[in-house]
Amino acid sequence: MNSLFYEGLIENDIKKLLAVPKSDLHNHSTKGCRREWLAEQLNMDLPKPPEKFGGLDGMQEWFTRNLKPYCLGSEGIILRWEGAFAEAKRNNITRLAMNFGAQEIDLVGGVDTFTKMIEGFWKEYCPETNFEPELTYVSLCDVSKEADRIDEYVSTGFFKSIDVCGGENLKPFEDFLPLYKKAEQYHLIKRIHVGESGSAEDVRRAVDVLGLDEIHHGIHAATSKEVMKFLAKNKIILHVCPSSNVMLGYAKSYEDHPIRTLVQNGVQVTINTDDLLIFDSSIENEYLLLYNSGALSAEELDEIRLAGLEQ
Ligand SMILES: [Zn+2]
Repeated sequence: MNSLFYEGLIENDIKKLLAVPKSDLHNHSTKGCRREWLAEQLNMDLPKPPEKFGGLDGMQEWFTRNLKPYCLGSEGIILRWEGAFAEAKRNNITRLAMNFGAQEIDLVGGVDTFTKMIEGFWKEYCPETNFEPELTYVSLCDVSKEADRIDEYVSTGFFKSIDVCGGENLKPFEDFLPLYKKAEQYHLIKRIHVGESGSAEDVRRAVDVLGLDEIHHGIHAATSKEVMKFLAKNKIILHVCPSSNVMLGYAKSYEDHPIRTLVQNGVQVTINTDDLLIFDSSIENEYLLLYNSGALSAEELDEIRLAGLEQ
């Protein structure tokens, strides 16, 4: 047990928690910076989020109305990317999987320009961090068109994993197979957003159909002993984002967060920020919220922290 981490939790000492190495493996890069960092760069106040959003649509609407107007277009995206790396440095995130949308890559001038820029931020802010870029697609994308173009992005070797985000159950999992088959050819880690709003059965089916290695969210697996057993047995890691779940209404509270049931049933989990800019809770605070609510003990949280650092 890391004593600094332990003290940080029981004393609610942010400085100690910041100093301990941590991972963040579910992080949407364009929303990966801190609100305070962005406000400082823009030299203006940015509004705090409400305690709860009405699901993903409510969140997107709030973001579009309250934050996006001040950091628009490619310039705004680049600034927010920089802020995500600044946060990795501030929070001692020594393993960072950050996801990037194909659309954003095109917006800043294509994959070569993009890669140089991101590597520049990585080297500038946190060169010691194990950085694992993820390529993500929105679920409503034109899958066959994107599958035809995916080589352009992944043949560079820059990306380590694939993901689909932006709403569950909008299409059958089978529809994403062209992307996941390509991902397999390039030996990418296969992840998808599932079991956030969707069911335990969705989680199980997504793993079976797409051959997933890991899952973004997956919290509703906690409603099924059978699915948890399946995940534990197959060592499928769930990248859980507590504040996101609570604020979007997918978990009742921190105290009753499904992460507790998942851990008790032997499912491997990590703790992550999802959209730090929106949910306003950086990674050390996610650990603290789970500790202070009694959802998990300091020992359990330290085990999760250490597991997240393993590649
Ligand atoms: Zn997410």
